[in-house]
Amino acid sequence: MAEISALASERALGWLLVSSLLLLVAAVVYGWLGAGKGRQLKQRLDAANSEIIGMRQRDPLTGLITRTEFETLLDTQLGRVDRGLGHVALLYLGLDNFGAINDAYGLRVGDALLVEAGGRLSAFMGDRPDVARVAGDEFVLLLRTDLDGAIEAATAVRKVMGEPFNIEAQQLQLSVSVGMAVYPDDGARPRILAHAALAMRTVKMGGGAGYARYSHGMGVNHRDQADLLLDLRQALARHEMELYFQPKVDAHTLQVTAAEALLRWQHPKRGMISPDIFVPLAERHGLIVPIGLWVIEEACRQAAQWREAGLRMRIAVNISGHQLRGEDLVAQIEASLQRHHIPPERLTCEITETVAMEDTAATREAFERLRRAGLHVSIDDFGTGHSSLATLRRLPAAELKIDRAFVVDLASSQEARSIVRAVVQLAHSLQLRVVAEGVETEVQRDELVSLGCDELQGYLFAKPMSASALALWARGDGTTAASDFSPSLFDPTAPAPLR
Ligand code: C2E
Ligand code: CA
Ligand code: CA
Repeated sequence: MAEISALASERALGWLLVSSLLLLVAAVVYGWLGAGKGRQLKQRLDAANSEIIGMRQRDPLTGLITRTEFETLLDTQLGRVDRGLGHVALLYLGLDNFGAINDAYGLRVGDALLVEAGGRLSAFMGDRPDVARVAGDEFVLLLRTDLDGAIEAATAVRKVMGEPFNIEAQQLQLSVSVGMAVYPDDGARPRILAHAALAMRTVKMGGGAGYARYSHGMGVNHRDQADLLLDLRQALARHEMELYFQPKVDAHTLQVTAAEALLRWQHPKRGMISPDIFVPLAERHGLIVPIGLWVIEEACRQAAQWREAGLRMRIAVNISGHQLRGEDLVAQIEASLQRHHIPPERLTCEITETVAMEDTAATREAFERLRRAGLHVSIDDFGTGHSSLATLRRLPAAELKIDRAFVVDLASSQEARSIVRAVVQLAHSLQLRVVAEGVETEVQRDELVSLGCDELQGYLFAKPMSASALALWARGDGTTAASDFSPSLFDPTAPAPLR
């Protein structure tokens, strides 16, 4: 029995051994197979994972990085600023009226436009990865720069995006609203992107086509916007509007030739509001005509007061397209001039190139009336529109103002230099004087003088200031002027010659 049981247990052990061996082989084979399957599976999972990560990182339409990826990038850069390494500014861009383009031309054109817009922004950033598409028609740029650099970039990017887009044999033109936020001045880490977006929306609600830096008062919503409009309707009656003045100086003698009136709105609660915000709002809601009339009257009154005080210079006002197309503009200007005994050639009407080149019957007539009245016309923001020589020749213009964007680019761009040179030659061949605006550095000034500009304007000489500050400054209290500029050098007899 013992033998049998020994034999049985031997067999059992044998079976046990065999089955264990079989199990082991099976396990090895299965394990090996399982590992192969696992590898495949893992590869597939990895691929799907990186696709998901890719989707989180890249916008499939434009190929730009997404908001999630941008936030990671931003966090790293803000960390660097916290450690005292450099600056960071955000530009948040919204395409103006993109919905209307989608409605009018269809989604395919809309998508193609977004792709092109993304490509331009990417090229603008020198193909660095710091540009993201963060929503349908919204993009954000991360700049390693301070406020001054951000302002320059905002101006330059508006220009780049303002160039026509050729899409499916159609030429489309866009404007952009740019919100700007500088870290850490304009918000803590978690808020900075939202603040840049808020600044962008503020610009949009003011009519778009501009830029604004974030400020604390920008808790903008629709009710706010309506409130702002209500306030704007009351602003003149409540005496909240003021004119600031910025001198233009002769490029060679540095004598003050003119003062440009720039509108300021001193809002009782929000503080000083930029004309970049409220002028487009006024234009959209028909308020620019009464406001513009007030500007003309006030500028003439101020010119007469300065004349009494012995300051002789031309006065310049900005005229919006709505005013120009209105029928009574010239009669109203003449009435103001007569009231204050100012000869018409002493008043310059600055009209942007884009408005001036509108070849409509209303603009043509308006220019004819300006010519007959003997008013001095300046084509503002020159270079941003699409002038034709023929139209330019027809206008009664005496002055071209080269847009600030070209002045900003002078030091770095051969192309900007060539453009300025060409504009100067063109203007001089038409007997127009050339003014360069936004001159901030001595390098720019020297370059502009050597390129043949006749007059200069910009922070290098003086920022826009109140009428009383200008009178003080003009008498030699040069606190706001560059040190090597002698503002007391007024031409005692006449403003810059007319053509
Ligand atoms: P604009 O006519 O091109 O005026 C020049 C703008 O550049 C002004 O801004 C001026 O303060 C600014 N600026 C001057 N020099 C420099 C510089 O060296 N560097 C920089 N970064 N900026 C400089 P502002 O006063 O904010 O006016 C903005 C725009 O609002 C004006 O552009 C004009 O289009 C509009 N605007 C101002 N006043 C009036 C007005 O009375 N009527 C109308 N229709 N528009 C106005
Ligand atoms: Ca102007
Ligand atoms: Ca200008």
